[in-house]
Amino acid sequence: YNNYQCDLADEQAMQQFGQKLIQAIIKMPVTPNGIILHLNGDLGAGKTTLSRAMIQALGYQGNVKSPTYTLVEEYAIGEKRIYHFDLYRLADPEELEFMGIRDYFSPQSICLLEWAEKGKGFLPEQSLTINIDFAPQGRHIYLQANTLLGEQIICQFVE
Ligand code: ADP
Ligand code: MG
Repeated sequence: YNNYQCDLADEQAMQQFGQKLIQAIIKMPVTPNGIILHLNGDLGAGKTTLSRAMIQALGYQGNVKSPTYTLVEEYAIGEKRIYHFDLYRLADPEELEFMGIRDYFSPQSICLLEWAEKGKGFLPEQSLTINIDFAPQGRHIYLQANTLLGEQIICQFVE
């Protein structure tokens, strides 16, 4: 499979989707840049809600806040490193160089990026793109694999 889509009626359905997706992700083999997901969708679509569900499903007990002002929030869970980005406020993609962006993409990392298009040209290729759209009932979510690893994630997810 290189794509998958469905409707999510409410926030609880979105949380369950996130739990299932992260379970598929952690089964993936280790790769040099780790796993990179782009989360696309308008303000209020549910990008942060989905990210939070994934981070908490890995066993993180604390508060998962939106990285709106900090650009990135880091979570250490076992040997995994989750980096949750929100690049909405990034004025210039070159700022990513000063953040030491390359160091975030390592074998043990799972990078979740909201507003990744703001960093275009300064980010490694994502495995998977997630589009969230407003639907008459809740949200419509669409997973699109961008690499072989992304396809593996979707295959594991639908299994
Ligand atoms: P974003 O990060 O995309 O700007 P947030 O995750 O911060 O969006 O906000 C999504 C909002 O929409 C939350 O207030 C959440 O409760 C609400 N919501 C309603 N229905 C859904 C749904 N099906 N999936 C996700 N969020 C939903
Ligand atoms: Mg957000």
